[in-house]
Amino acid sequence: EHEEVEYQADVFPAGDGTLLRLTDITKFKRYERSKKEFVANVSHELKTPIAIIKSILETIIEEEKDEGKRRLLERALKRTEDLRNIVEDLLIITKLESGEEKLHKKMLNAKELVSVVFDMLREIAQNINVELINEVDENTKVYADEDKLNLLLLNLVDNAIKYNKEGGKVVVKARTEKGYVILEVSDTGIGIPKEHIPFIFERFYRVDRSRSRELGGTGLGLSIVKHIALSHGGKVEVESKEGEGSTFRVYLPQSI
Ligand code: ADP
Repeated sequence: EHEEVEYQADVFPAGDGTLLRLTDITKFKRYERSKKEFVANVSHELKTPIAIIKSILETIIEEEKDEGKRRLLERALKRTEDLRNIVEDLLIITKLESGEEKLHKKMLNAKELVSVVFDMLREIAQNINVELINEVDENTKVYADEDKLNLLLLNLVDNAIKYNKEGGKVVVKARTEKGYVILEVSDTGIGIPKEHIPFIFERFYRVDRSRSRELGGTGLGLSIVKHIALSHGGKVEVESKEGEGSTFRVYLPQSI
C-alpha cells in the first residue's frame, strides 16, 4: 500500500544564506496516529463494563444491611465513578482530536453561558465559601458550539473553585480584541508554580496528584479545554502566581 511521506521543514541562518532541513516524520506521525487510535479503542471498550459494575454495585448497596460492608461498597462505587469520568473525558478528547466531532456553532450570549455554568457549580462553591462573580457584559456575543463552550467553562470554573482558598473569589470577564472574543477566568487560589505551567494542558498532568484526586479531578480537564479552544480555531493561555491565583484566557475567533 502506498503511503505518503511527510516532512517537517526547518530553516536556519547559515553564513550568508539559509539552510533548509527536511526531516522525514512519516514514522513519527504513524506512531502518533496509532497511539491515538489505541487510546480511543481502549476507552470505548472500557465504557460498557464500567457502567455494568457501577449498576451492580448500586443494586447491592441498596440491599446491604451491614453498615461496614456498605461503606466498603460505597468506596468501590466512588472509584468506579472516578473510572467512568476518566473514560468519558478521554472519549471527549479523542473525538475532538480526530475531528470526527462536528461543531454546531452559533451566536451565544456569553453572560448567559457563564451564569448557567455558575448555577451548575454554585453548591460546590458555597461548600468552600468561594464567591462566583459574573462580570461579563450583557452584550458580549461569542460564536461557538454551545455544549463545547459550556464544557470548557465548566472545567475552568470548576478548577478555579477547587484550587481556591476558603473565602476566595472566581471572576469571569469577557472582551473583544482584534477579531477575538477573550473569555477570562480568574481565581484567588493557590496558583501554579512556574515550572509546572508548560505542562498543565497535557493529559493527566497534575501539580499535586493527591490534592487533585481528593477533589475528584481526572487530570484531563485542561486538556479538554485546550482541545475545545483549538477546535474552534482559538487558543488558551494562563498566567499564574504561586499563592496568589491564576487567570486562564480563552481566545475564540469572532468570525462574523
Ligand atoms: P484536574 O482534574 O487534576 O483538576 P486539570 O487538567 O483540570 O486536572 O488541571 C491540571 C492541573 O493543573 C491540576 O491538577 C492543578 O494542579 C492545576 N490547576 C488547574 N487549574 C488550576 C487553578 N485554577 N489553580 C491552580 N492550579 C490549577
